[in-house]
Amino acid sequence: MPDQPKSIAIVGGGVSGLAAAWHLQTQSTPNSVDVHIYESASRLGGHAHTITVDTEKMTSRDYVNGNNGGNSNVTSTNAVEEEKKEEDASTKATQKKNKHEVDIDVGFMVYNNANYPNMTNWFKEMGVQGEETDMSLSISLDQGKTVEWSSHSLQGIFANPMQAIKPEFYTFLRDMMHFNNHAGELLLLPEDHPSRQVTIGEYLNKEGYSEAFASFYLVPMMAALWSASVENVMAFPASSLIEFMCNHRMLQLFDRPQWNTPAGRSIQYTSRVADIMGKNAHTSTPIVKLNKITKGDGSCSYELFTSDDKSCGVFDDVIFACHSPQAVEILNSDESKTVDPNLIQALDKIEYGDNVVYVHSDPALMPKRKAAWGSWNCMGKSEFLSTHRQKDGSGNKKKEAMEGAASGFGNKLSKVDSDTQHLEGENGRMRAVYVTYYINRLQNLTTSTDVFVSLNPHTAPNPEMVYRRQIMAHPQFTRETLDGRQEIKDKFQGKDGLWFCGAYMGHGFHEDGCRAGFEVATAINQVPLPWANKDDGQLVLPTPDLAKFTFEQNNTFFRRLKHFLTYRVPVAVCKAFVVRFLKAAITKGELVLKLNDGSLLSFGDSSPCGADAHPVTARVFDDWFFVKIATEYDLGLARSYMSGQFVVEALEKKEDYPWTLGFPEGEVNKVLGDPVGRVVVAAVLLTRLFLLFVGNRDIGTVGVRSSKQHTHGNALANASGLAISKIGSMLNYLKFKIFMDNSEKGGSLKNIHAHYDISNDLFRTFLDKETLMYSSAIYDAVAQPPALMGQPSPGLRFKGTLEEAQWRKLDTLCDRAQILPGQTLLDIGFGWGGLSIHAAKKYGCKVTGITLSVEQKALAEERVEKEGLGHLINFEVVDYRIFARRQDNQGKFDRVISCEMIEAVGHEHLGEFFWAVEQVLKYDGVLVMEAITTPEARYETYLRSTDFINTIIFPGSLCPSLHALVDASYKWSTLSLEHIDNIGLHYAETLAEWRRRFNGKEDVVRKMGFDDVFLRVWNYYLTYCEAGFRSQTENCLILVFSRPGNKALMPLCESRAVTQMESFTEEEVEAWLE
Ligand SMILES: Cc1cc2nc3c(=O)[nH]c(=O)nc-3n(C[C@H](O)[C@H](O)[C@H](O)COP(=O)(O)OP(=O)(O)OC[C@H]3O[C@@H](n4cnc5c(N)ncnc54)[C@H](O)[C@@H]3O)c2cc1C
Repeated sequence: MPDQPKSIAIVGGGVSGLAAAWHLQTQSTPNSVDVHIYESASRLGGHAHTITVDTEKMTSRDYVNGNNGGNSNVTSTNAVEEEKKEEDASTKATQKKNKHEVDIDVGFMVYNNANYPNMTNWFKEMGVQGEETDMSLSISLDQGKTVEWSSHSLQGIFANPMQAIKPEFYTFLRDMMHFNNHAGELLLLPEDHPSRQVTIGEYLNKEGYSEAFASFYLVPMMAALWSASVENVMAFPASSLIEFMCNHRMLQLFDRPQWNTPAGRSIQYTSRVADIMGKNAHTSTPIVKLNKITKGDGSCSYELFTSDDKSCGVFDDVIFACHSPQAVEILNSDESKTVDPNLIQALDKIEYGDNVVYVHSDPALMPKRKAAWGSWNCMGKSEFLSTHRQKDGSGNKKKEAMEGAASGFGNKLSKVDSDTQHLEGENGRMRAVYVTYYINRLQNLTTSTDVFVSLNPHTAPNPEMVYRRQIMAHPQFTRETLDGRQEIKDKFQGKDGLWFCGAYMGHGFHEDGCRAGFEVATAINQVPLPWANKDDGQLVLPTPDLAKFTFEQNNTFFRRLKHFLTYRVPVAVCKAFVVRFLKAAITKGELVLKLNDGSLLSFGDSSPCGADAHPVTARVFDDWFFVKIATEYDLGLARSYMSGQFVVEALEKKEDYPWTLGFPEGEVNKVLGDPVGRVVVAAVLLTRLFLLFVGNRDIGTVGVRSSKQHTHGNALANASGLAISKIGSMLNYLKFKIFMDNSEKGGSLKNIHAHYDISNDLFRTFLDKETLMYSSAIYDAVAQPPALMGQPSPGLRFKGTLEEAQWRKLDTLCDRAQILPGQTLLDIGFGWGGLSIHAAKKYGCKVTGITLSVEQKALAEERVEKEGLGHLINFEVVDYRIFARRQDNQGKFDRVISCEMIEAVGHEHLGEFFWAVEQVLKYDGVLVMEAITTPEARYETYLRSTDFINTIIFPGSLCPSLHALVDASYKWSTLSLEHIDNIGLHYAETLAEWRRRFNGKEDVVRKMGFDDVFLRVWNYYLTYCEAGFRSQTENCLILVFSRPGNKALMPLCESRAVTQMESFTEEEVEAWLE
């Protein structure tokens, strides 16, 4: 008995369903398949939708094709929702037309041979002809007032004559030329290069493109092309978008490929497939339910139902050629509930957005000036197109709060209420831009009446001029959509006989739908397409890669020469310097640089150094890394990391991570700033790099320093061994000296604002939830016994949560100050109020807090109010020097606590700080200060140079040495140092925990508008500091000062806060004594 043909149901008769049906029906081995296509509308084609409009009566009607087998009562689930009453949906293609009638395509309209290889071959195979069309673009903002131009002609470029005198218009033209010439270079970078992972918003910022370029061209065009919100466009992966533009030759404005439109409209091809499918093309048959039948041998089949619970039969395979939301609905209807929930979840991630489509003749929805009319016209509102640069009230570019974080601060876009309003362009997803197609030009109409198709217009066209209004959905290429699509392709395609195709599998165009349909059909019948390259084992033609071709065309002799002189020469020179320097500087441990050309550079002697005995491997993506380091030394390394020029690779095995650092759970395999999720970067790995540097830095300096070197070290010495970097370091230092200002006249305010006013919400992502303290915690910690007697302890083991540790810290500060109920406390630099609240609530004192951060004060006051402590706490935004000069504050406070505020004071102003405390502290008062300190041996050099922290993270900050503090205290006050605790190792753990929490909230941080660069800066900052404390080359000290003879201060004996040494067992001691 011959094998039964495989029964296959295709749900959806758009281009994907039609392509799959055609291939299975015409190319499969005879009698091997029995294919049925089910379409809910009364015609096949989906978005390939031809209608006849009567320009005199202002009516329209559909063509009908397929086998409308007695299901005429079935209503469409997708298209034609609000058709005009006059429409006659039963008219066949053959019906005679009057002279006012004209056929137009509402959905699929244009294609070109280069980018639509499968579709054009398919059309050829079916004898469907195309005719040439014009694909000129126009942009009109604010009804032509802000800008109005078209690529249709030179006259069109200056359609609005006022543009000729607007400088920003020329900036846009210049940037557009630059973008067209250079954007393709991104595609030459290796796949794992972090610069390839950025969003288009980040790319525009990073590359310095103007606002005019974004809003006069790129953003409206992209939003119109994908019916996407500006937010979605800006979140689109830059490399995918540029690849798309290269492939579609959109990087040349005038010399674009010849586009075609189906001759006789798309009904020509949809009807051909309808004829081929004959009775098996079931139109007006929506599939509403599916039942999975699992057979004894584990194989599956599916029974499909249309409305009224009418069975359509049982099928071995089901191809979902409808949109993902409909596929989800059908799969969810399975009564056996055996369809894989992970499949449904993946499909659910693929987002579609509805679009209101008007077919009309109202020119009000076109550019104001006829010279600016293009074939597709993007009509926008500039107020909503301001995308990647946030402006302040004065219209100036907002001052960057921190270097390298421009887009992080500027990329905030207000959310669109997608549930209620997104159908209207005016308020919804497309409120920034809509598109009007000029059908006469696009589809070579012979009528003299202008016919337009507008998607999501901001105002509806004049009702008298409307032929119809309908809803058409488009895939939204968000991060979720891309993830979901990848999951379907990798894990679920064809599993248990379920297949998925649709334009969402590619860029959302007809070729994408077509290819997706063919891919599924050829995977089922294993027969290649007639036009595929069978010798290469191809089943379907792949997406054409024209990007390289476009780039090579642009790669002229002068461009190559420029690249040689401005990139390759400096890289070669600097690489030689850096390699020589690293050979001398890294003598212990091992540093491996993995370069783009596959070569490895290794430095060190492989002895244990840094965090562990494994080499630290840095993957260098961009050789400009060498230029950065050679010219700016350690700041260059930081800036190179911020720009994504290198990452530190993960260790191979979990066990390889030293227990002191811990395994970066949830941080490895996670990408910093990758919108699509590919590259592996883990911030914790940077700590290993810094520890290796620290381990090497101090070798050889012991015993060789004279006091002269000690005091006269400077920025030149800092970069010793790296000749050209001395100049860069000097320049950085000079810039720092000239521009950095810690004065009370505003310099301090500006510096504090730059870090602490970034966003309260950002700090909340990583600080402990209860105290919101932004300073070292004090953990319950136990020193680990050494592996061998006589050796140092390998480190501290920390117990408990960050929250518990911060409470312990607050108690320690109050305890060191020996606060008593009813006393007055001045909290200098009160942060988000954690200490003030604790002191008032637990110790019953009256607190005055001063700060320079407006954002912090606002949140701190909110917290005080919530606690009902308003009567005990008063906060003020004021400089400590001004506060101390006020008459009413003289000798007023029993206690002063300043927790990690002294770092913002600056070396020259340390004395002023002690002077200020001297003024406000009662005679028997106590000052407790928590300070991050620099070792004495490096202090003088540190004072004469710049670093990552004081230049990028905390502008103008300085971590004083203990000696500098004591020196300032005795010169400017009568205070003496009474007691010291060193909590530096606790700080390493606090920073590690902040980093873990911050990276765990990456999605939230991104939603706040912070970008890839910001994420890298923040990780560099947290790991850089962690390494300083972990290596014990930076300390965090709690210092107690008071005046001599102060009986109110009981001398203390404990000097290591809450840290115990775990005792040895008796056996261990005995073994050692033996
Ligand atoms: C206004 C507009 C203009 C466009 N212009 C172009 C262009 O010029 N060039 C280009 O390349 N692309 C263009 N596109 C993109 C075009 O939409 C896609 O290229 C493609 O047609 C989508 O095909 P599809 O098969 O994925 O989906 P669709 O064409 O939407 O097909 C899905 C089908 O599934 C059916 N269906 C849904 N649910 C069920 C169910 N439960 N049971 C049975 N059937 C169901 C629907 O009725 C529909 O017919 C345009 C899109 C729009 C909106």
